Amino acid sequence: MQKVLVADKINDQGVEVLEGSAEVVFDPTITPEELLETIDQYTGIIVRSRTKVTRDVIEKAKNLKIIARAGVGVDNIDVQAATDNGILVVNAPQSTSITVAEHAMGLILSLSRKIAIADASVKDGKWEKSRFMGMELRNKTLGVIGMGRIGSQVVKRAKAFEMDVIVYDPYITQETADELGVRITTLEDLIQNADVMTIHVPLTPETKGLISKEQLNQMKDNAILINCARGGIINEEDLYEVLKERPELKVGLDVYENEPLEDSPLVELDNVVLTPHIAASTKEAQRDAAIIVAKEVKEVLNGNTPTNVLNMPVVDSETFQKLKPYFKLTEKLGQILVQTTSPNVKELKIIYSGKISGRSKEPLTRELLKEFLNPILNEPVNSVNAKSIAKQRGIIITEGETDKNGKYDATIKIDVITDDDEITIEGTVENDEVSVISIDDYDINLTLDGNMAIIKYIDLPGTIGKIGQILGDYEINIGEMKVGRLSEGGEAVMVVKVDQEIPEEVVEKLEETPDIESVKAIKL
Ligand code: NAD
Repeated sequence: MQKVLVADKINDQGVEVLEGSAEVVFDPTITPEELLETIDQYTGIIVRSRTKVTRDVIEKAKNLKIIARAGVGVDNIDVQAATDNGILVVNAPQSTSITVAEHAMGLILSLSRKIAIADASVKDGKWEKSRFMGMELRNKTLGVIGMGRIGSQVVKRAKAFEMDVIVYDPYITQETADELGVRITTLEDLIQNADVMTIHVPLTPETKGLISKEQLNQMKDNAILINCARGGIINEEDLYEVLKERPELKVGLDVYENEPLEDSPLVELDNVVLTPHIAASTKEAQRDAAIIVAKEVKEVLNGNTPTNVLNMPVVDSETFQKLKPYFKLTEKLGQILVQTTSPNVKELKIIYSGKISGRSKEPLTRELLKEFLNPILNEPVNSVNAKSIAKQRGIIITEGETDKNGKYDATIKIDVITDDDEITIEGTVENDEVSVISIDDYDINLTLDGNMAIIKYIDLPGTIGKIGQILGDYEINIGEMKVGRLSEGGEAVMVVKVDQEIPEEVVEKLEETPDIESVKAIKL
């Protein structure tokens, strides 16, 4: 049975998911030295943030297929090293969505009803009822900046408070907005109209300083601003200045430009509620993270693709269904190419055409590279590391597409350029059968399987006969044969399917024959 190491303390329900599928070793106090020594026994490892999965560990992990982080951030995992070694890295970004959304609601209520400051006052022996006049949320406008996993959970909760919701998120569709009953608007309109604003975007060059002096000054009187996303999205210096001038504004923060927060003038302000980056910290989020990643590990142990993969693009299921028949084609074309070209490949040009164009073909390209590189490299190549290994080897990969598909539904054409050679091969899939339709510029239509040979020769009377004779002499039976030529008497290509593997000796004999230019034996 495959072994999974749980190297940090995770919720028991996560461990239970794996029971029956793997031998689980629970060692939450494992030292870095012990990890290095034992990692080669494991197919999967689950960590939180204590265990550091470094390049050294990964390079020793000869059997490892998946590194799972029961949580979100993966700073403790060398993701590039995992990618280079063909190991999947998964996390559980959805595990904290409700927890963070509830925290945002908590900060909103804390400010709308002045709970934190009233609490401090009572504990200070005071009874200042009139000082803490609050604001109801009902019929107020909530502006959500970024309506992804967390933002949409905030929307649902705000609706229960009978708030009107407007959203700024240039990447969501009208359909998503309609489903949640929100109005999409511009950032400016949102800022000018929201009674409560809450930020749920990632920190990117585009969102850094998204809320600065100009935006803060446009906020409505008495408005509330919440940031449970990432520090830096609000410019803290601007925030402090504006809050001093407009003490009626209220701000709730869980994240800061620098953490832990030290020497910040914000702590002196009454109109601010601050929490120490705890929006995601609940037992339920930790339990869900453990369950989610354990299920991902189980998928991988069962040979399936997990969902939250950080180092390999995963396509949506509709795209996957469309691409599915073509995996066999890229696999076969990759196998043919590795057997027909010299290993010093400089460039691979892949053209997808017909009904598979217009979609992400990333998984097909990776499948092709995997088949193409695996036989020539010592290290195992899989769909995770195929692209990074190709890049390390200096192979230029260009992917293109065309709507044109001729008489076929879809085709894949691959042009391989090596130091001393170039070969172009094109294939298709019809009724689940994978065929080659052209080699270089010669039309050849032949299903791909078993033992084959690609023979280039000069199209002169008798050459085909000589080929048949040699194969016959070695008792190699020809099952099928296709020839393609551009002009009479010029270069031609023959693809033969034979019942037995073609020995090296036969290849040499054929190559010695006058008018035969090259012979490549292929086994699929
Ligand atoms: P998500 O990827 O599901 O959603 C992000 C949304 O932001 C997407 O809908 C995207 O379209 C939108 N977006 C991206 N760039 C934008 C832009 N320039 N303007 C407007 N919208 C934009 O992410 P999520 O899981 O909802 O997380 C949201 C944020 O919360 C992230 O910054 C994450 O790091 C943070 N987070 C914080 C904590 C915490 O402990 N405080 C915990 C978890 C997540």
